[in-house]
Amino acid sequence: MVDVSSFDPIGDLLETIRSEFIGVDDGSPADYIPELSVADPNVFGLALAGVAGSVYVAGESADQFTIQSISKPFVYALALADVGPEGVLARVGVEPSGEAFNAISLEPGTGRPANPMVNAGAIVTSSLIRGNNPAERFERIREMLSRCAGRDLAVDEDVYRSEAGTGDRNRALAYLMRHAGSLTAPVEEVVDVYFRQCSIQVSAVDLAVMAATLANGGVNPRTGEAVIDPSIVEQVLTVMATCGMYDYSGEWLVRVGLPAKSGVAGGLIAVSPSQFGIGLFSPPLDARGNSVRAVAASRAISEQLSLHLMHQVRRTAPSFTRLPAPTAALDGHPNDRVAVLELQGYIEFPVAEQALLAVNLRATDAERPIGLVVDLNHVTRCNPLAATLLDDVIEQFGKWGVTVVTVDQRARHLLAAAAEFPTVDAALAHFDSP
Ligand code: GLN
Repeated sequence: MVDVSSFDPIGDLLETIRSEFIGVDDGSPADYIPELSVADPNVFGLALAGVAGSVYVAGESADQFTIQSISKPFVYALALADVGPEGVLARVGVEPSGEAFNAISLEPGTGRPANPMVNAGAIVTSSLIRGNNPAERFERIREMLSRCAGRDLAVDEDVYRSEAGTGDRNRALAYLMRHAGSLTAPVEEVVDVYFRQCSIQVSAVDLAVMAATLANGGVNPRTGEAVIDPSIVEQVLTVMATCGMYDYSGEWLVRVGLPAKSGVAGGLIAVSPSQFGIGLFSPPLDARGNSVRAVAASRAISEQLSLHLMHQVRRTAPSFTRLPAPTAALDGHPNDRVAVLELQGYIEFPVAEQALLAVNLRATDAERPIGLVVDLNHVTRCNPLAATLLDDVIEQFGKWGVTVVTVDQRARHLLAAAAEFPTVDAALAHFDSP
């Protein structure tokens, strides 16, 4: 059996991106919550969780930190489930505010906060969660976030006390909203729930799984649990896309083009719908309260994998039209150990990831074919990075003595690591000749 434990091209990709940005030393950890200012500025963890349930990591991906504002989209999802979209909309808008996360600005006349991603909107959102008392409401929030992460999440009591002791700006916002009638719950009760939700501890891996739950239509891809209704996921992702990065949201959408949410402890999630979620952590923040390295790395990941939501590609699914199966066996003919795989449409990350996962499964396969013919005739395009990952797969197959060749009438040489033939017959003939 060949050892494939070190075969992790997606992890390697994250590692490359990490090393590209670890040297960036702009920004500094948040200090308006005293406990956050002691964070190590050199830490940089990355994780990617695919909708197939696998997680890939680089750097300090297991380090724990507080979720802060990344809790907001998940609590918003819970409020939407509890009160319904109209009930929530009556109390919290869905318009980008173009202002800082802690801005003291409410809709004239109603006192309604602009959206659930800024503090004012998040405080009202928390007040909408069902429960007989604040403790029950918080417990429902903690459980919901835990189900999205696939593990039981706890509160960092030091950060909670630090924020509760200094959070007068949030209290001021809440008093203003209570005065205007947009907040009906008692101020101290609701900000306490909000401070606790912000103090829930996560790692970059947890964030990636939470983001992948959103990417996967509300089903946690690790546990298989349906946590959020798909129609709610759509609304949450939309608000993340337009408001998730505060007064950087417009530029973020232009440059990165993905729904995202940042937190002042240095965390960030970005969601590529139907593909994967990423979770990043690095404490130094820019002037808008977004992690400098996490923003830069997200931009690189989006560019390299062509993830921008407005990217003009015709997505054709499924890309596999035929799974590997030995060709018709002729008696004693070597072709009975050659499999043919036909791909179609736009080859992007999930196809490459499926192939990588298939490689890992095949590590124990004694009845491995001697050859694999990959028919690319019906492939319209191939994302360059997906091609690189597939080339890694081809090389890994080669190490096992499985020769991979491609078929492409148009000779586009989409996969550099394989010899290319114009027809399937020509490719099969390649295995005939000794
Ligand atoms: N708990 C933080 C606050 O209310 C959350 C802000 C953030 O992460 N942007 O100030």
